[in-house]
Amino acid sequence: MGDSVGFHVVGAAIQEAVMDSSRTRIRRLPEKAVTDRATLHAVLDAALVAHVAVVDEGQPYALPMACARSGEQLLLHGSTGSRLMRTLDGGAPLCATVTVLDGMVVARSAFESSMNYRSAMVLGTARRLEGPEALDGLRALTDHLIPGRWQTLRPPTRKELAATLVLAVPLDEWSVKISDGPPDDDPADLDAPVWAGVVPLTMTPGPPLDAPDLRHEVSPATVVAALAAHAQRSAPSRPGWA
Ligand SMILES: Cc1cc2nc3c(=O)[nH]c(=O)nc-3n(C[C@H](O)[C@H](O)[C@H](O)COP(=O)(O)OP(=O)(O)OC[C@H]3O[C@@H](n4cnc5c(N)ncnc54)[C@H](O)[C@@H]3O)c2cc1C
Repeated sequence: MGDSVGFHVVGAAIQEAVMDSSRTRIRRLPEKAVTDRATLHAVLDAALVAHVAVVDEGQPYALPMACARSGEQLLLHGSTGSRLMRTLDGGAPLCATVTVLDGMVVARSAFESSMNYRSAMVLGTARRLEGPEALDGLRALTDHLIPGRWQTLRPPTRKELAATLVLAVPLDEWSVKISDGPPDDDPADLDAPVWAGVVPLTMTPGPPLDAPDLRHEVSPATVVAALAAHAQRSAPSRPGWA
């Protein structure tokens, strides 16, 4: 897709942290930077997966994991046996990035072809949640991923809780970048006999598959409806140019 260094963010709007961090200050397209914490919340709420990066013994590792926002915190959870979770629990600085892919920008040249997206980056260190706070964190994560699911399930056992680390990253230092424009083709390419535009990409639930050991005649309709509603809430609004 074009040259990666010259990747063109069409119609990008960039939101910077209220705290004016030099590490999250946008250097490219700074005139489009605005401060909007509500947008940070919306992007985090639309995302199901964060790529969490830490450096361990000099080597960077970026791992995908489930995430959820709770107030001014990004919640993560994982096994007490996970290297990533132990490293984070030990106070390692982290960078968590979420990306919601909204569309393929199909230009008349490979160079101008790109993607529309909403992405957020959070820098910080994680705090371990314990006791009722950990339980609240697990509820928030579960209900973010499968809305309404927590209240239908048995509570976690002591053993399950002991095997799980729940971490919270404060939303203190962050940036959000949104790209939502049409292709920005070179005028010399406008006569090319190829289609150009944006193909929206959305996440939608497919037909549910029963667990092979399902013992009751229960319908997945509530779960599917909750996932569909989340997908709908997370979809971008129609851009003004379309
Ligand atoms: C789905 C997707 C695909 C992309 N594909 C490409 C590609 O192929 N090639 C390419 O060069 N770029 C791509 N980008 C854009 C890329 O993420 C960077 O924004 C861009 O490369 C500028 O990098 P930089 O080092 O100059 O950032 P700078 O503007 O120097 O970054 C400074 C600070 O800005 C913030 N920031 C930068 N980018 C983002 C972001 N995306 N989201 C949130 N905060 C951000 C961070 O806080 C960062 O520390 C893509 C983005 C997304 C979401």
